[in-house]
Amino acid sequence: MAFPPRFLEDLRGRVSIMDVVGRRVRLTRKGRGEATGLCPFHNEKTPSFTVSEDKGFFHCFGCGAHGDVIGFVMRSEGLEFPQAVEKLAGEAGMQVPRETPEERERLERQATLGGAVEFAAKYFEQQLRASAGKAGLEYLKRRGLSDDTMRRFRLGFAPDSRHGLKAALEKAGIPEAIAIEAGLLIKPPKDEGPSSRTGDGSHAYDRFRGRVMFPILDRRGQAIAFGGRILDQGEPKYLNSPETPLFHKGRVLYGLSHAQKTARETNEIIVVEGYMDVIALAQAGISNAVAPLGTALTEEQIALLWRMAQEPILCFDGDNAGQRAAARAADRAIPLLKPGLSLRFAWMPAGEDPDSLVRAKGAAGFREELARMEPLVEVLWRQVLADRPLDTPERRAGFRRDLAEAVGRIVDKSVADAYRQETHRRLDDLFRPQPKPAFQPMGGQFGGQKGRWQPPMPVGGEAARRGTASIQRTPYELILITLVNHPDLISRHCEMVGEVEFPRGDLDSLKGAIIDLAAGQPHLDSKGFRNHLNDLGFAATLEALIARTGPVKFTLPSADIISAEEGLLHVIGLLREKLSVKPEVAATAQALESAMSNPGNPTAETTALSRFEAARQMALDGESQRRDLDRAPGSGVED
Ligand SMILES: [Zn+2]
Repeated sequence: MAFPPRFLEDLRGRVSIMDVVGRRVRLTRKGRGEATGLCPFHNEKTPSFTVSEDKGFFHCFGCGAHGDVIGFVMRSEGLEFPQAVEKLAGEAGMQVPRETPEERERLERQATLGGAVEFAAKYFEQQLRASAGKAGLEYLKRRGLSDDTMRRFRLGFAPDSRHGLKAALEKAGIPEAIAIEAGLLIKPPKDEGPSSRTGDGSHAYDRFRGRVMFPILDRRGQAIAFGGRILDQGEPKYLNSPETPLFHKGRVLYGLSHAQKTARETNEIIVVEGYMDVIALAQAGISNAVAPLGTALTEEQIALLWRMAQEPILCFDGDNAGQRAAARAADRAIPLLKPGLSLRFAWMPAGEDPDSLVRAKGAAGFREELARMEPLVEVLWRQVLADRPLDTPERRAGFRRDLAEAVGRIVDKSVADAYRQETHRRLDDLFRPQPKPAFQPMGGQFGGQKGRWQPPMPVGGEAARRGTASIQRTPYELILITLVNHPDLISRHCEMVGEVEFPRGDLDSLKGAIIDLAAGQPHLDSKGFRNHLNDLGFAATLEALIARTGPVKFTLPSADIISAEEGLLHVIGLLREKLSVKPEVAATAQALESAMSNPGNPTAETTALSRFEAARQMALDGESQRRDLDRAPGSGVED
């Protein structure tokens, strides 16, 4: 059975070869759009098998296996060509065209429609350079577009005539019915107007008149529709082609054919509002921007964006309308979130759009605004929070409920878990009795970078409950000794500390005692607190704790409360991040260095120092435990 070439092309475009191969072969990314792995078609120990998303091919340098995504499925699953096509089409949700006469006719018509739209695009381009298009050309020049940019985006002009394009189509032998179906001409309904009885007055006429034309291209760069901007004060300002068999505006992104290569290579795609934004950014050298076509982002468009980059950046006006538009986009994306896939939000300064911004301040000015973008969770949080007062327990409970409801819409379980954890964290922070702004770096309180997702991880977790040897005791010790030396912190972070699963045994009992003691005697100072714990039989445990945590300054009674709290939160944060201490040591060392080289902010320096000490201590401790384990397998921390 033969498949129409256009269908096969669509299929190859729709299916990601990386995803399909990735299901069979463990791939290692080599820059954007390329990956390598062990060849599934011959036996090898070092990877000589490469996949290229851009080229849509795989190739093995070892055995010479080579092909596209269909070829891969044929080879790896032993299927014939038609079955492989059916399988992939099924996965992509595409209807396989049957070879019925109707179907063939439909496909032919589609090809013919495409031809008509392409013809119109060329016609509009010519008109822009002809005398009829003078006003259009002047308008585009006034907007700062170079000749080169206009050609690249195939900008054109529709003369202010009802029969300009129509005559040209006729001359080229393109049937009127095709031009109407392609959205180029408008056929008035027959029963309209007094002259219809005579058969006059229902002549088809040009849809686009007196407008600068922006062809909307498919991913291969073929024109499938148009957007037209009026030159005078007429309405509508922008007019789009209607939906046609070629053009479904919810599935298309303006500028994608230009943006896709850079977007893939840089793993960055920028979504702006209008055609002019896309074009102006491209002219300024930012060639990875696209725009939806006058509507809010659809699910299909979000999926398309994720094929290009993991965290597309959505640009919005900073005003209320922009906030609402962002909320809509967030709302649409939330159920679709997958591990690693999200959205980021950038806000343009008041009264600016990317077009005006890049014209006034260049690519660097635009990049500066992008740098302040926020992760999706931030937008969601603000959206639920809005301006609601949280001054009563009922209102706080209402806020918690709405937040849980929003997070509950995330379908992917691991992403939902991570969101729950993050919102808990933020709630802790928000409802803390004595909030101290100094402890709240934007976007998260553990010094985590904005928008960086941590894998979901029960704090402490299974391993902690079992008290196995793989547990590092240090983080738990750091938490406990900080609380003992700064009892004020206990009530403030009671809930968060309670959530941490301690290794069963002495530390866990001590934690319970600390929390009970703080609840029963909230006004004890650190000395009184320690005395009580000694009386309860924890003297030896405490002494060991103090000996082991001595070098970590924020735990000491002499540390100021700010560094103590900062250190405490940092350690809990590390625990939540699965004790990833080694990279943390490097990162904190760097932060420390930069804090020291920018003197004048002693608090920042102290904070950086205490974080570095905590991370280093935990790493050292982990090291020595690993060495112990090597020497004596099975030994370790006991219950
Ligand atoms: Zn091979």
